Amino acid sequence: MRAFYCDHFVLPLPPEHRFPMAKYRMLRERVIAEGIIAPADLIEPAAAEWTDLALVHTQTYLDGVAAGSLPREILRRIGFPWSEAMVERARRSVGGTIAASRAALEDGVAANLAGGTHHSFSDRGEGYCVFNDVAVAAAALQRDGLIARAAVVDCDVHQGNGTAAIFRDDPSVFTFSLHGAKNFPFRKEVSDLDVTFEDGAGDDEYLTALRTHLPGVLDRQRPDLVFYLAGADPYEGDRLGRLKLTIDGLRTRDRVVFDACRDRDLPVVVAMSGGYAPDVDAIVTIHSNTIREAVHSCLSVSAS
Ligand SMILES: [Zn+2]
Repeated sequence: MRAFYCDHFVLPLPPEHRFPMAKYRMLRERVIAEGIIAPADLIEPAAAEWTDLALVHTQTYLDGVAAGSLPREILRRIGFPWSEAMVERARRSVGGTIAASRAALEDGVAANLAGGTHHSFSDRGEGYCVFNDVAVAAAALQRDGLIARAAVVDCDVHQGNGTAAIFRDDPSVFTFSLHGAKNFPFRKEVSDLDVTFEDGAGDDEYLTALRTHLPGVLDRQRPDLVFYLAGADPYEGDRLGRLKLTIDGLRTRDRVVFDACRDRDLPVVVAMSGGYAPDVDAIVTIHSNTIREAVHSCLSVSAS
């Protein structure tokens, strides 16, 4: 299984910043150290082309990001200070999801060890999301005739509001988001299917909801590619998530998604999304378990 990374572009963030950039490099090192991904299958993607980004984002927004001339309010909502590295990293992160999507169509499963920036709208970013990688990848693969229909299974603890808005009037991409009812974003968009949880929801409640809704989403949409946003922030130790899933529960969540896709012969591309636990090692364990389950589902395809 191929995995794509872009952690060489580290943003200069103050140490008290709650977005843990370190998790990306640690994740890459973990999947190699534990033999989950072979070094030859770990690939640094090219930056997404501006023309790809323009399939989803407005030219005004792209020009503002490129030139560092975004309105102060938009930059504040994104949460990162502007820099050349911020632009390059945002483009690489989208490039990783585009490359992983193409790899998933060839191999069945592939991953971006970053991405899942689902709070980005066509004309603005917010919540640490500059560009919407999944939306751009879906649009780019559609343009290239590689897919017609897609499904987004968004298990980050925050609603995929940008993705929901971008595809609101587009039946070719089904948006399914499971998230905390009281979390950011406080004004939710309308996905094709939203499942919400109250504060403190745990493994049983979450997994029951996922198992209840996921088969119907896949069977109705009949996607050519599934985008899975495997956020680590439903974790009980997360400081923003407000839910109470365990590390084992999150791994079961991953397995439920991969099994449902494999049973239907649907290729799946994984993006990591959020994770804000003070214990960065726990975040990396959750993300690396996702990659482990992805590899396992890949092997089960080859074996069957
Ligand atoms: Zn999140």
